Amino acid sequence: MAMKSYNPYEIAQAQFDRIADLLKLDQAARDLLRVPTREYHFTIPVHMDDGSVQVFQGFRVQHNDARGPGKGGIRFHPLETIDTVRALAMWMTWKCAVVDVPLGGSKGGVVCDPHNLSARETEQLCRGWVRQISRDVGPHLDVPAPDIMTNPQNMLWMLDEYEAIHGGKYPGFITGKPLSVGGSQGRKEATGYGVVFTIREALKELNREPRNTTASIQGFGNVAQHAIQLYERIGGTVVCVSSWNQADQTAYSFRKASGIRYEELLAATDAFGGIDVAKARDLGYEILPGDAWLEQDVEILIPAALENQITQENAARIHPRAIVLAEGANGPTSPEADTILSERNIFILPDFLANAGGVTCSYFEQVQSNMNYYWDKDEVLGKLDTKMTAAFHAVSDLARNQKLPMRDAAYVISVSRVAQACRDRGWV
Ligand code: GLU
Repeated sequence: MAMKSYNPYEIAQAQFDRIADLLKLDQAARDLLRVPTREYHFTIPVHMDDGSVQVFQGFRVQHNDARGPGKGGIRFHPLETIDTVRALAMWMTWKCAVVDVPLGGSKGGVVCDPHNLSARETEQLCRGWVRQISRDVGPHLDVPAPDIMTNPQNMLWMLDEYEAIHGGKYPGFITGKPLSVGGSQGRKEATGYGVVFTIREALKELNREPRNTTASIQGFGNVAQHAIQLYERIGGTVVCVSSWNQADQTAYSFRKASGIRYEELLAATDAFGGIDVAKARDLGYEILPGDAWLEQDVEILIPAALENQITQENAARIHPRAIVLAEGANGPTSPEADTILSERNIFILPDFLANAGGVTCSYFEQVQSNMNYYWDKDEVLGKLDTKMTAAFHAVSDLARNQKLPMRDAAYVISVSRVAQACRDRGWV
């Protein structure tokens, strides 16, 4: 079978066009919402430890801010492209709308491989990113956050640079900060926990008990790690995880049929979620090819790594026992695979619903930072559960009543809300 070329921006636009047709959206709203409002491309020179200067390519894309300031993470990735950032910015608009937080959608990126950067070089890159964009982002304009291969320390360097430029304290400029300097309780857990809140609700609809289910997960970064912890706490068993191996430039899956032990695997993992193969083997894990996570005999699949992982080439390998696909990553399922999984009656928890816990908690962090008054962890996680559960039921009720796939139902809710905000403001 010929490999389909993959462009996430084209996919995001095709998804939007279909929903615009379904909603009979007027032409002006379509023209406005199928492209970003603004985008910034810039260079970031960094003085490297060896004395050379390396120039990195940075981006910030602001898709839509009708419902509030733009919101969305910054990815550091060697394969970052402007079209990936555009797609991710668009998905952020729908994500904020589906959980009904008063924010728009943005995304940022830098083409780089943080594995190969020292702490000092990473700090220079973070500060350089802010220097290039500091007039066009801000607490009431566009609020960045962590994403793939960026972390709380990176956010603090960015905040520090922003505050130095603007001459004041603006903790609401960025979210995902360390707890010691303006971060929110629960933020690091939020995306993974949010994924599991939606799985818990889906299992209720399917009349299944979490304790009688097993899961296989792609990725072992922040999202996967916290999803595993909460899923195990509600009784489930994770039997396989996969992770990227930087030394071999390939991925491996790690399987233990009796259930992986989160703490022991964590002790064998680097700062970017890469599991050490030799250590895992010593711990009794079976080492399998990177995509073996997908074909495990489990009820629940959680892709929590990168986009375009489940495709028409591999979707048929999903085990007949799978009943739920919870998209912890953004855009992990290609449109062709989406159709295959829907035909197989797999309950799909679409990315911008399933992984919305991160931005929902970022919204809570922004509120706390702007007030300079912080809530305890139970309060944050309780509010997160309430928001995610309400969003799940709004989507699943619509899906049931209108006989729509879950992804389409989520889109209908989000696009309607954003289009309405644009109309209310008199933009279209
Ligand atoms: N990067 C995360 C996402 O894709 C979180 C964004 C945020 O917290 O603003 O949803």
